[in-house]
Amino acid sequence: VASSRELVVLGTASQEPTRTRNHNGYLFHLDDVHLLVDPGEGTQRQMTLAGTSTAHLSGVLVTHFHGDHCLGLPGVVQRRCLDRPDHPLPLWFPASGAVYLDRLLHATATDIPLDREVVRHPVSEEGEVGRLGRFTITARRLHHPVDVVGYRLEEPPRTHLSPDALARAGVRGRAVGELQRYGSVVVDGRPLHVSEVSYTSPGQVVAVVLDTSWCDAAVELARGADLLLCEATYAEHEADLAERYGHLTAAQAGRMARAAGARFLVITHFSSRYHDVEVLVREAAAEFPTVVAARDLERIPLPPILRQEGASS
Ligand SMILES: [Zn+2]
Repeated sequence: VASSRELVVLGTASQEPTRTRNHNGYLFHLDDVHLLVDPGEGTQRQMTLAGTSTAHLSGVLVTHFHGDHCLGLPGVVQRRCLDRPDHPLPLWFPASGAVYLDRLLHATATDIPLDREVVRHPVSEEGEVGRLGRFTITARRLHHPVDVVGYRLEEPPRTHLSPDALARAGVRGRAVGELQRYGSVVVDGRPLHVSEVSYTSPGQVVAVVLDTSWCDAAVELARGADLLLCEATYAEHEADLAERYGHLTAAQAGRMARAAGARFLVITHFSSRYHDVEVLVREAAAEFPTVVAARDLERIPLPPILRQEGASS
């Protein structure tokens, strides 16, 4: 499962892009779900450089309408239309930013009816806001000078048949298929329920916390996340700037991952003042050791799902 689940980093800059950091852009491959988060300026080309295609996109999440998180949207949507997708693109965004989405979709002269190519999901309430494949999308309001929405993607637990338990129970051949179809089967004159020979593994959870100062909603979003993608715009000695502009320091991102009980932290959205982001990784790691800095065009595998052998024999 893990091998087909990864984060493709398209951009890691905050307000100002640098020679090595494009504006924001994050593509999550979650099996057959291909989800683009915050297409900043240049995202279309970054996707080409990363060897990914707009044609297969399953959906887009926009956290907020500051330029570094959305100025690439018109290009991505226009590109995708030219690739003749088989379904319109669902797009989640903070409802109060509808006027900006309108302008972005009507930003240029084009024959493409972009309004029909996008299915709008304005987020006005916190809670579950939609589904993509096996994943439920939950939104929470974060804390920034404009309306910002953080997102959590969560899949339900999976049930697997345990080959060992099946062998011990003497279930083989056609009986395995029957067990899967009907939930129970008779073996040697005794009824056997599927729960006796199966185990459950938790579903995977991904959280996106982009552009916020410290808030409880962000911690809740990241609760138990396998991967927390979190902004870490500043180092600790610029904590006053972080507070003033509604951002996090790297140490705060680390503290957030720890408070949420996350498994893996990926920090991003770096101020252009940090040529080398190692200082940010160090400060985050002091709070939460399992952290990496996102780098443009890097592929980061999601940590594999923990398996819980729960089969009784
Ligand atoms: Zn930003």
